[in-house]
Amino acid sequence: MHTDLASLAVSFANTLSSSSRDRIATLEKFRGWAQNWPTLQPLAARLNADHLEGVLERRNAMQAVMHAVADGRKPSAADLFLATDSGLAAAPFRLRSAPGGAALGRAPVYEAISHLLARSAVDLLLSPQAAELRLCEGVRCRKVFIAARTNRRWCDTRVCGNRARVAAHARRRSQDTESTTSDDLSG
Ligand SMILES: [Zn+2]
Repeated sequence: MHTDLASLAVSFANTLSSSSRDRIATLEKFRGWAQNWPTLQPLAARLNADHLEGVLERRNAMQAVMHAVADGRKPSAADLFLATDSGLAAAPFRLRSAPGGAALGRAPVYEAISHLLARSAVDLLLSPQAAELRLCEGVRCRKVFIAARTNRRWCDTRVCGNRARVAAHARRRSQDTESTTSDDLSG
């Protein structure tokens, strides 16, 4: 499982894992991703395609905020607003006391989704875990994670960690070849 289920906000930000890999690029993909989240799933099933662009815009802002925090920088006010604002407003729905998510009433689906995503960002940013946010060191990887260990470097050791080991190995091999070549020339 590549999803960091510790936090909805982290999982949402990580849906853009590189500039060319977007896990929620279509409504169908968004619904697939939302299946991991019982409160979000029934809302995503009813989301109108017109609203996907808004969801993606919020996701990009959320990722930019998390990259800034992981980097020790101040996020831009515009990104912070887009990523958190609807989470600071009153919820446009009530939670059911039974499992199965939210009772929507007449609340619009897009507003409810925006609220859930933004509120998870607010919860994360105000928690001690915000100090443990890290950006994966993988080349071109845009994923963040909450580092329980300070020496964790990769979103996933089997993916980015492994790729880095292969790259380091290739570098060592080419260095070996270069030194052999220069030995040959000097001899
Ligand atoms: Zn990574």
